Amino acid sequence: MRPTRLITRLLPAFLLLTLLALGAALLYSERAVREFHTNQTATELEAELQLLEDIVRGQLTNPNLQALVVDYGRRTGSRYTLIAPDGRVLADSEERPEKMENHATRPEIVLARAEHLPARATRFSVTRLETFLYTAVPLTEQGHLRVFLRAARPIKGLYASLRGLELHMLGAAVLIFALAGLASYGLARRIVRPLEALRATAEKYAAGDLTHRPPLSDIEEVAALAESMKTMARQLDERIRLLSQERAESEAVLASMIEGVIAVDNNEGVIRLNRAAAKLLGMTSEHALGRDLREVVRNPMLQEFVLQTLASAMPVEKDLWLYTPDERNVAVYGTALQSTGGQRIGALVVLNDVTRLRRLENVQREFVANVSHELKTPITAIKGFVETLLGGNEHRPEDIRRFLEIVRRHTERLDSIIEDLLSLSRIEQEERGKLECAVADLHDIVTSAIQLCRARSSSKDIAIENHCAQPMPARVNARLIEQAVVNLLDNAVKFSAPGRLVSVEGRREDGWWILSVRDQGCGISAEHLPRLFERFYRVDKARSRQSGGTGLGLAIVKHIVTAHGGEVGVESTLGQGSCFTIRLPA
Ligand code: ADP
Repeated sequence: MRPTRLITRLLPAFLLLTLLALGAALLYSERAVREFHTNQTATELEAELQLLEDIVRGQLTNPNLQALVVDYGRRTGSRYTLIAPDGRVLADSEERPEKMENHATRPEIVLARAEHLPARATRFSVTRLETFLYTAVPLTEQGHLRVFLRAARPIKGLYASLRGLELHMLGAAVLIFALAGLASYGLARRIVRPLEALRATAEKYAAGDLTHRPPLSDIEEVAALAESMKTMARQLDERIRLLSQERAESEAVLASMIEGVIAVDNNEGVIRLNRAAAKLLGMTSEHALGRDLREVVRNPMLQEFVLQTLASAMPVEKDLWLYTPDERNVAVYGTALQSTGGQRIGALVVLNDVTRLRRLENVQREFVANVSHELKTPITAIKGFVETLLGGNEHRPEDIRRFLEIVRRHTERLDSIIEDLLSLSRIEQEERGKLECAVADLHDIVTSAIQLCRARSSSKDIAIENHCAQPMPARVNARLIEQAVVNLLDNAVKFSAPGRLVSVEGRREDGWWILSVRDQGCGISAEHLPRLFERFYRVDKARSRQSGGTGLGLAIVKHIVTAHGGEVGVESTLGQGSCFTIRLPA
């Protein structure tokens, strides 16, 4: 049903009611006036009949009866008829009685005869062809009904005199109707106006202005409605405030999470995506919100995972790779997203960047494998020679000595591997706690390191020169830095031909102390340089082992230097020599 305005409903109803009331009043009063006039006329007719009764009493047998009646009729203007009890017309003031039919059945005569009282009737006269008011009175002599006297007057004349009055009443009714119409309009406006004001208030609320107050009204129902709206607005305001606070809190929680969180609806539309997830996926959350996940994340593995989560009733998890653009290893957990009513409304996916963790796990795995491999070689050799010695065969003393010599070499090797591993783990531990540092002169540390390598360098006739600036004060753990320099010098001597020169330079550069160990050795080809500082990485495994290398020396150097907040570097040309640098904060 199409709604209509209240005023267009109220006004016609008011007007119709007024019209009905006026019409009823008009009809009623017109009838009352007519009845009053009819009664008045009937009373007049009865009075006239009283006089006629006096005239005709004792004259009923008089042959001039007709003339008497005609004469009386002429004087009053009414019509008179004398009717015998059997209905015969004895005389009539306007008609010849012998021409008139029997009147015994005329209603006024029937009534008067039955009641012995004056009776009246309004009826159309077939004689005169118009409506008349008749009044009949029975005339009795010595207790005997002798005749009915009847007077008649046309009703038309009677009603004509009422027309003017009726016109006046109609005029008054029109005036009253017009006034009632105006009053109704005013009343309807008085009802509608506060309702319109309430509507305006409700529209303001809908637009978000909950501080607006509805207008006051002196109509109780409207005032109650306004009060209810005010209360509703207050409660709504409070609830919205609470909701936004809760939202801000959950937003803050999501934003502060290290894990990426993505919430999607059942159609894979993104509902939420926190900062961490956006970063992992290489986008902004504003860009993703409300869009299809397949549109914003172009990673088939993640798309498939979301589909799997949406289809599964149980939580799912998987490790996958994201390329945005760096390669990231991400552990994803997916669960169903449920409304408070327990209905499934989508899926929640949590992304955990495990790149570092997996890399560490890999390093550890590789390390264990490498260590086992490194330890296996000397142990196999030792086992072999010991079994040979114990095998029961007779050996020459010089062979026994040679075997034992080999066993000793491998034992030393084992020892140096374990020593290196221990020192690596020591440095790691010190790193985890806090390095014990004190101000020391790097120049002195280099001097002492050169001293420690003297035996080996001299045996190869290699000179080590110290070209460090003096002094080079730095907050370092002197013991560890010395070990790092020793490792570098050791390598330089190890990989240089006899008679060559090794030099250590030390200088200051942009807030850093740079120590460079330069040799004129075999050099390293470029492809090995990036991995040189990894544990157990060796360019030439056989040669390194032969020279007693463990493949851990440079790893230890790197560890020590990074623990000090510094960096290591290498430059080398195959066949010409290498230069290893240590940068330490000055
Ligand atoms: P190692 O105990 O085998 O020397 P390091 O970690 O000290 O292990 O060195 C790793 C590898 O780097 C060596 O095996 C060697 O091949 C190469 N290397 C290190 N220092 C030098 C150098 N001064 N000249 C040439 N090669 C070197």
